[in-house]
Amino acid sequence: LSRRIRDAVDKLRGRGRISEADLKATLREIRVSLLEADVNFEVAREFVAKIQEKALGQQVLESLTPAEQILSVVYEELTEVLGGEARQPVLKNEGNVWFLVGLQGSGKTTHAAKLAQFYKGKGRRPLLVAADTQRPAAREQLKILGEKVGVPVLEVADGERPETTAQRLRQHLTFDYRDLVLVDTAGRLQIDENLMNELARLKAAVGPTETLLVVDSMTGQEALNVSKTFDERIGVTGLILTKLDGDARGGAALSARHVTQKPIYFAGISEKLDGLEPFYPDRLAQRILGMGDLQTLLEKAKAAELEAPLKAPGEITLEDVISQMRQIRKMGSFGDILKMIPGMSRMLPAGFQVDDKALNRLEAIVLSMTPRERRDPRILNASRRKRIAAGSGTSVQEVNRLIKTFDDMKAMMKTMHKTKGRGLFRR
Ligand code: GDP
Ligand code: MG
Repeated sequence: LSRRIRDAVDKLRGRGRISEADLKATLREIRVSLLEADVNFEVAREFVAKIQEKALGQQVLESLTPAEQILSVVYEELTEVLGGEARQPVLKNEGNVWFLVGLQGSGKTTHAAKLAQFYKGKGRRPLLVAADTQRPAAREQLKILGEKVGVPVLEVADGERPETTAQRLRQHLTFDYRDLVLVDTAGRLQIDENLMNELARLKAAVGPTETLLVVDSMTGQEALNVSKTFDERIGVTGLILTKLDGDARGGAALSARHVTQKPIYFAGISEKLDGLEPFYPDRLAQRILGMGDLQTLLEKAKAAELEAPLKAPGEITLEDVISQMRQIRKMGSFGDILKMIPGMSRMLPAGFQVDDKALNRLEAIVLSMTPRERRDPRILNASRRKRIAAGSGTSVQEVNRLIKTFDDMKAMMKTMHKTKGRGLFRR
């Protein structure tokens, strides 16, 4: 590369502000990524609107493309919305009573036991309370888990009054020197009035120091309503996000945060009793955006040194097209590359396949041309086209189509060059 061209390109970098066109295109991708991650539609809309405000008019940085820069704004904001830094629940020296609430199957019983093991390991003396007054099987499940982790389980009797439960619980705190009580409560498959009333009464009688809503990350969209109702009716002080080991992308977390504004303290990452981690907002932000995949794409592009041809649009030849195609192929299958772009899989029609074989045929056609023909396709008369078709094992129609497509592409690039300026052409 001549120094002058390189200098010209360097000048384009880091100049000007993020344009509205850059922003619109990138935000559309972001919104699709969020919806794919099961973020509630309204929540996604509000989030994207916030990003738009933040990113528009930002100075374009030296080392990043506008799209990369917008993505980094999104990542930071998403981390912030998910809580910023990892946080731990308040733990006093004594008298801690934590209430676990949530729908049936969300993971309350499992996580009561996980928390008991986790804090026992930190030198605490937990007590588990099986407070499902409706289902003996649920209390049996906690008793078995309690035995496994070596923590006593206080069993509430069928139809026991909340005041009685509260009294028994306090006796344990006082006479057995327990300093962290984990109350596993009843859940229903759907929110219902009886469940909420029962929980509210038990909570009022016991007076927990934390009320932790257990949210199944696989519930996706539904997490919004569940969190809203539990927070309004019971009052939630923190969240536990379970089943993050599944293939859920974690949109439920964003919904639960959005309506409760309470910290997510823990993430459940397996069925096993040691499958509990502090919750890291930045990690989930990456997962929601599919940044892991995106990073791979950026790295691959760098490795293959995929660069736009440094020519004015009018000067681009079929040889340039071939060299671009080869560079793309170096990165792997074209279809694989498309799939790595967040949101792309949803935008493509169902069953869409990029035909690598078709790319091979195009390449064969160009290779069958003389260098002069490649530089100036205008000289391609009927007999030349016939020769090329025969040489490449294709048909004259395919040759015609390639040349037509190339002409159209060149015309389009010229208009873009004129109307949108150099910034867009660089992309
Ligand atoms: P509860 O009805 O809210 O008490 O839910 P459970 O604690 O009984 O859990 C319901 C099911 O989800 C059980 O089969 C658990 O083993 C499973 N489970 C709970 N937490 C997790 C988790 O973090 N990861 C996985 N993979 N499974 C979990
Ligand atoms: Mg249970």
